Parts: sequence; structure tokens; C-alpha cells
Amino acid sequence: MARQRAKGHVHKYRLVPMNQETSVWACGLPMCNHFMPPNMQHMIEGKASECWDCNNTTIMSPARMKYAIDSNEGRMLCDDCIAARLEGREIVFKDIDDVEMDDILAQIAREGKK
Ligand SMILES: [Zn+2]
Ligand SMILES: [Zn+2]
Repeated sequence: MARQRAKGHVHKYRLVPMNQETSVWACGLPMCNHFMPPNMQHMIEGKASECWDCNNTTIMSPARMKYAIDSNEGRMLCDDCIAARLEGREIVFKDIDDVEMDDILAQIAREGKK
């Protein structure tokens, strides 16, 4: 029964290094040792993943995967949590200078979506 429960979950993906050259997307849940083998990494796109911040289900897309790698140690986040983190940066920028906030936010949004 416990095995069935482990099988039926949505994986919670993060990118972990296998060796110096290769990193793989692997499930971070304690009862699961699923990972996407290096020769199947291209299959990861479009798969469901749990969000590391809110545990909602998100879909692995190139932009979200890039954000996870660049900004969250390889841990997948949903769009809401990515937006919340970008808003956090807005507050930091506001303290510095609010003159060109729109430009700064537009740039952050572009960076986050690449
Ligand atoms: Zn899993
Ligand atoms: Zn989330």
C-alpha cells in the first residue's frame, strides 16, 4: 500500500548534479528516488512538478526551469511563487530608486521568462 502511495504522487523536481558534467532532474520527496536519466532529460518538459514553495502543481517549462536553475538552486516553483519572489525584488528596488520602476520590473519579467 505504501508503495502505491509513492507511485501516485506528483514528483517535486529539482536539478541535482550527478557528476561534474551532468545534472539530472530528480524528485526531492523523501519517499521517492525517481529521477530523469541524462539521456531522457529532454522528456522533462511538460511534466508536472510540485512547487517547492507552496506544493501546488506546476508544469515544467523552459522558462520555469531556467528560473529554478538561476534563482532557486534548481528547485521548481509555480508561476505564483515566481511572481511573489519577483515582487520581493520590487521592494528592494523601490528602496533604492522608484523613478524607473516600470523599466526595472519589465526587465525582471523578461529575465524570468527567458
Ligand atoms: Zn517523486
Ligand atoms: Zn508555488
